[in-house]
Amino acid sequence: MRLVLLGAPGSGKGTQAKLLKKEFNIPHISTGDLLRGAIADKTELGLAAKIVMDKGQLVNDDIVLGMLKQRLAQADAKKGFILDGFPRNLVQADMLDKLLEEINMPAQHAILIAVDPEEVVGRIAKRAEIEGRTDDTQEVVRDRIKIYEKETAPVVEHYKQHDILSEVLGTGSIEQVQHRILSVLRF
Ligand code: AMP
Repeated sequence: MRLVLLGAPGSGKGTQAKLLKKEFNIPHISTGDLLRGAIADKTELGLAAKIVMDKGQLVNDDIVLGMLKQRLAQADAKKGFILDGFPRNLVQADMLDKLLEEINMPAQHAILIAVDPEEVVGRIAKRAEIEGRTDDTQEVVRDRIKIYEKETAPVVEHYKQHDILSEVLGTGSIEQVQHRILSVLRF
């Protein structure tokens, strides 16, 4: 199973990806997590990325692609993957198509978890209390949503044109959303 998960910040992508990882026994690859890992390791790249991330902006395409390429080269990704947080714009969508073509592992499904922007702000406020992410402050969240709408939403169209896009409703319980995703994948 080679799956790309799409959705606004706070749409529940990460939560659903973790459940899908268990269900299909394939890695959950989150570029946000890879970047946060680099920050925790205090690498040069991580320190530079933190400045951009804390403002809610997107990290340089080539840097994120490089991290993703390394991650996809690891043995566990040979059986498939759930991509969460990449691609974030149309340039990355093209980069990803090329990369996956090169390694002969094209994406099979792209799933958009659709949520109301109003709901997203409330969900992220809750996450901020639990996880303490420095980019989950109200002001930064608003910027991240704006960037999502401008840069990432067009990626949905990209996958529609590739005929692999499905949309599921992201409202309701975690289990309900998971059930909707599994129904799409098992169809
Ligand atoms: P996320 O955990 O997916 O919400 O990502 C957190 C932050 O990491 C984003 O707001 C960006 O600053 C950065 N980031 C994650 N994935 C990407 C990506 N594919 N391209 C650029 N920046 C990214």
